[in-house]
Amino acid sequence: MAQILDGRKLSEKIKERVKSDIEKLSRHSVDVGLGLLLAGENPSSKQYMYATVKSCEKVGIKAHQNKLPDDVSINEILNLIHSINKDERISGLLMFLPLPKKINARRVINEIAPEKDVDGLGSLSVGRLAADESTFQIFRQGDYDSLYSGEFMSAVSSFLPCTPFGVIRLLEHYGIDMKGRHAVVVGKSLAVGKPLSLMLLAKEATVTICHRETRDLGSYTRQADILCTATGIKGLIKGDMIKDGAVVVDIGINVLNDGSITGDVDFGSVEKKASFITPVPGGVGPVTIAMLLENTVRSAQRSHFLKHPLITG
Ligand code: NAD
Repeated sequence: MAQILDGRKLSEKIKERVKSDIEKLSRHSVDVGLGLLLAGENPSSKQYMYATVKSCEKVGIKAHQNKLPDDVSINEILNLIHSINKDERISGLLMFLPLPKKINARRVINEIAPEKDVDGLGSLSVGRLAADESTFQIFRQGDYDSLYSGEFMSAVSSFLPCTPFGVIRLLEHYGIDMKGRHAVVVGKSLAVGKPLSLMLLAKEATVTICHRETRDLGSYTRQADILCTATGIKGLIKGDMIKDGAVVVDIGINVLNDGSITGDVDFGSVEKKASFITPVPGGVGPVTIAMLLENTVRSAQRSHFLKHPLITG
C-alpha cells in the first residue's frame, strides 16, 4: 500500500513560514498584496479564486480581486494589468486561465511585469526556467529558509510556476530523490507539464514527456520511477500502467457532477503498486496555492530589499 504524499500538511508548513515573513515585513510598514484577475465564468477558475482568497486571508496577504465579464475586451484587461504593474501595494498578479476565447492569453500574460509574474508563465519567466537561471529555487541548500532570504532574492527577477514548483517541493519534502531516476510526465502544457519536465531535468532526472498524441501511453508510464500526470482525463492512469514501487503524482483535477473532484489516476488500482501517491483532493492542489503565497511574499521582500538594502530581520 502506497504512502500518501500529503499536500495539506506541507502547505500548512509553507503557509506558517509565509505568515511569519509577512509579519516581519509589516514591522517595516510593508503590506503584501496579490492581484487576482478573473475574466469570464469558468467554474474551476472561480473555485481556485475563492480558495486563493481564503488562503491569502489566513497568512495576511491582501487579495485585490478583479472580476471581469466574459465579453471583456483585451484593451480593458491590458489597462488593468498596467495599473497593477504600477501599484506598489501589489507584489504579484495571478491571471486565471483559461481566458475567454477571443482573448489572446499569451499577449495578456506577457504584459504582466516579470517581477510580479508570481505564477511564472510569462515568456521571460519561462525562458529563465529553460535557461536554468531560476532553477536554483528548487535546490535545497541547508533549508529553503536560508535560500529565500530577502538578500538572496534580490538577485532573482523571475518566479517558478506554482504547480510544478509545488510538485518538486512535495517530492523533496518526502525525501524522494529525483537524480538519475526516470521521470515520466503526462501532459505538456505551458502551465504544468512543460515546466515540470524542465524542473525534473534540472534535478537531473531522465525525463520522458507524453501527451495526447503519444502512442501506447502505458509502454512509457510503466518505465517511470516517478510518474507525474496532468491531463484532466479522469482515470487515465490505471494500476496496470504502473511499475511496482513507482512514485505517482496526480496533478489532474476533474470536477464531477456532484461537485466532488478527482484526478487523472485510478487511485484504487494504482495505490496497490505505487510506493508513494498523491490523493486528489489534498495532494498537489494545496501546495500550488502555498507556492503562490510564497512567491508573492518573496516578491514583496525583494522589492523591499531593493528599496532598503540595509534593513534586515
Ligand atoms: P491542458 O488542457 O492545457 O493540457 C492537458 C495536457 O494533457 C495536454 O498536453 C494534452 O496533450 C495532454 N493529454 C490530453 N489527453 C491525453 C491523453 N489521453 N493521454 C496523454 N496525454 C493527454 O491542461 P493543464 O492546464 O496542463 O491542466 C491539466 C490538468 O491539471 C487539469 O485537470 C487541470 O485542472 C489540472 N491542474 C491542476 C493544478 C493543481 O494545482 N493541482 C494546477 C493546474 C492544473
